[in-house]
Amino acid sequence: MRYSNYFLPTLKETPADAEVVSHKLMLRSGMMNKLAAGIYNYLPLGLRVIRKVENIVRDCMNEAGAIEVLMASVQPAELWEESGRWGYYGNELLRFKDRHQRDFCMGPTHEEVITDIVRSYVKSYRQLPVNLYQMQTKFRDEVRPRFGLMRGREFIMKDAYSFDTTEEGANNSYQKMRNAYCKIFEACGLEYRMVDADSGAIGGSFSHEFMVLAETGEDMVISCDKCDYAANVEKAIVIDKGEVATAPMLEVKRVVTKAAHTVADVAAMLSLPPNQIVKTMIVVADEVLVAVLIRGDHELNEAKIKNLLGAAVVELATAAQIVEATGGPIGYSGPVGLKLPIYADNAVKYLRNICVGGNEKEIHLEGVNLERDFKVRQFADLRNAEAGDSCPVCTGSYLNTRGIEVGHIFKLGTKYSEAMKATFLDADGKSNDIIMGCYGIGIGRTAAAAIEQNHDENGIIFPMAIAPFHVIITMVNPKDEEVARASVELYDDLQKAGIEVLLDDRDERPGAKFKDADLIGIPLRVTVGARGLKEGLFELQERRSGEREMLPIAETAQTIVSRVRKALNLRG
Ligand code: ATP
Ligand code: MG
Repeated sequence: MRYSNYFLPTLKETPADAEVVSHKLMLRSGMMNKLAAGIYNYLPLGLRVIRKVENIVRDCMNEAGAIEVLMASVQPAELWEESGRWGYYGNELLRFKDRHQRDFCMGPTHEEVITDIVRSYVKSYRQLPVNLYQMQTKFRDEVRPRFGLMRGREFIMKDAYSFDTTEEGANNSYQKMRNAYCKIFEACGLEYRMVDADSGAIGGSFSHEFMVLAETGEDMVISCDKCDYAANVEKAIVIDKGEVATAPMLEVKRVVTKAAHTVADVAAMLSLPPNQIVKTMIVVADEVLVAVLIRGDHELNEAKIKNLLGAAVVELATAAQIVEATGGPIGYSGPVGLKLPIYADNAVKYLRNICVGGNEKEIHLEGVNLERDFKVRQFADLRNAEAGDSCPVCTGSYLNTRGIEVGHIFKLGTKYSEAMKATFLDADGKSNDIIMGCYGIGIGRTAAAAIEQNHDENGIIFPMAIAPFHVIITMVNPKDEEVARASVELYDDLQKAGIEVLLDDRDERPGAKFKDADLIGIPLRVTVGARGLKEGLFELQERRSGEREMLPIAETAQTIVSRVRKALNLRG
């Protein structure tokens, strides 16, 4: 591609509303432009990157035996009513009516549609397993669209859905996708972690998220500093360890704690360390009130209490419910004399002489002890993991890092097939629900995450595999006939060898061209100038290291071809 014929509108200034580096650089490098909040147009350079990511994903999906389809993006409400999600999905679902006043939505995901397709055709176990995927534009009316392609409202997703007859088969399909995802993110040149995740709203048996590690990530990732164990905060296991404190038990003492609403307030007022205070949270688990005790310096993990109780919904009790259940106002609940079932985080069992709420306005109790003053129905891991906690797998300890969720895989089980009657006849002629899995990758988010991980103060540094071009040839002075001829010759040779080249033949100052080349992040740059030509040399510069070398003209094309091939082959 000749730059002079291309559409590559780079910007000198950083657009004001871009907060994270990938968003800034994608706008400045002319990869995309904004149409409305969370809605972007892909410009030629950006589209090349998007296509590269898509192709890596497509190759790996095909290799894993998945088959590409393309489903409709406008979906009828009836399907969502069948699955029960029309009422449940909320405002993220963009709904509208057609001219006949029928309800439709823009697809935010395609479980309903794919289940409808499969149930229409699949009747027998002989037709399974099957895994169908697509590369498609989704719409989710996100509350806070931000960070450009990272959290858009309109975005491209690869979504795959597997259908199996047995649990074993479904696990096998899941495993294949898991391996394919590792290959994909590695091939994209990303540093990522696969984390054990909570399957949350979609429901189902298990799930993993693929997190690209980056400071600007919106998710917290707990990972071991020694081994591969990683999980999101929802799921990270906190192992039960400690020794019961040996201090002699004190008498229970009532203390007045006026206007002390938080653990920090109480700690300051009573000169206690927060880890001697125990918070009593009253929660409603499927309409049943229970109390949960958590050490003052720890955080309750709602997913863990939900799993422990096997509840569908767990919420914090309202102020009125708390008054009714404890006799005291919000902020002063405590386990002593409480009539509710009490669950406690493991850490609580090692404490002596704790401070708890007195179930009375502005009253706390000190010197409170387990068994003597209150009983716990069950101890369990109920808090969020923190940096420094011990790894459950090895002797390492947890780090707390930020990550960008680029992929998510779920074993769905029969949630959709049961609701939508997607069944098959087994070998004995008996009808069974098909066992499903679903697997998503954000294509634009992956490209953005790659930029978050690969940039410097001058611009993007694309990994070769997803770079819009492998090489840029910068003509120092395109009016110099010798420079023009040598550049075009190299350009032709490289293109013939299958290398993707951008030829900067613009009539601009060399400094401006170098700046643009750095900004758009092409991995290799060849500079062709009159001075070098006189000595029979081209200058080759690597974007990442900045290293320059002078190469004999005759050898340049071959050197580049082998560098590009090496960079591509090394990854996947
Ligand atoms: P998040 O928690 O970030 O909202 P999600 O759990 O809603 O993600 P999934 O429904 O699992 O996401 O979608 C699969 C993949 O699609 C995600 O892993 C992510 O890469 C991508 N994705 C989801 N929402 C967006 C968005 N608003 N913009 C860009 N990509 C997205
Ligand atoms: Mg979401």
